[in-house]
Amino acid sequence: MKRAAFLKLLGAAGVGSALPVALGGLRPNLLSMNELNAWESVLPATDRLPALFLGHGSPMNAIEDNLFVQGFKNLAAKLHVTPAAVLCVSAHWETRGTQVTAMAQPRTIHDFGGFPQALFDVQYPAPGHPELANALATAEGLGHHVATDHEWGLDHGTWSVVKHLFPDADVPVLQLSLDRNMTPAQHYALAGQLKRLRERGVLVVGSGNMVHNLRMVDWARMNDVGHGFDWALEASDAMRGWILEGNHRALMEAPASAQRAFQLAIPTAEHYLPLMYVLGMQAPNERVSLFNDNAMAGSLTMTSVALGLPS
Ligand code: ZN
Repeated sequence: MKRAAFLKLLGAAGVGSALPVALGGLRPNLLSMNELNAWESVLPATDRLPALFLGHGSPMNAIEDNLFVQGFKNLAAKLHVTPAAVLCVSAHWETRGTQVTAMAQPRTIHDFGGFPQALFDVQYPAPGHPELANALATAEGLGHHVATDHEWGLDHGTWSVVKHLFPDADVPVLQLSLDRNMTPAQHYALAGQLKRLRERGVLVVGSGNMVHNLRMVDWARMNDVGHGFDWALEASDAMRGWILEGNHRALMEAPASAQRAFQLAIPTAEHYLPLMYVLGMQAPNERVSLFNDNAMAGSLTMTSVALGLPS
């Protein structure tokens, strides 16, 4: 990736904006019968599907064949199931309030600049799932209103990785936005309210990067897989340990940590927060595995997490 391309991504990612301020808490309501019925009428019950946090890195991963893309393809081979829908929380869609895409045919959004034409030529024509979106928007008991959206579509945080899982674009894909006014703990709590989607044939994907500091990218070693600055490796090591031991509280608190490693690893929260949606859906004692667990370019990690994936 060229420096200019990265700088344009920097703008798109809202780097430099302050961390969101918490506005109230999520009400810990139980799911109501209305909401249960709404989902049941849309999607039949299934075995629990895996949930995935995918480190997406450069948009070029959409069209390159490299170690990380191989990791996504290896993962796809282990899924052994065709989901009824993919619900993706992308780092690249931040809104006021939580929104879910509700169009029948979401457009492919090329939300970056300075990349080769081949990347702009990519289309990922997966259908949407308006019925599911509407069921989420009318659900009671989430403790949080989810509004339907008819403007967005699939941004590169979604299509650059989901296309490697479902290359035929034959699985409906919805995006759930990141409410920029919510704390990590509130995102985690909302995920907890949505986790039964995994038992309705929905594959939940969080797409971001746990360590993501575009301002500190080591341009001279841009494609150097395994190259992480000391702070990036320190933060990554801590996050890895907390994920594997199930210390979700520490992971929720990491973006606000006073430690230098976390301040540099998470300068803004949007690439980190999709992880909250995956961890918030973890079942008790559920198997968790890591893949693509590499730093690159000094200031990024591609570490990806799979819940409930067979070994
Ligand atoms: Zn990104």
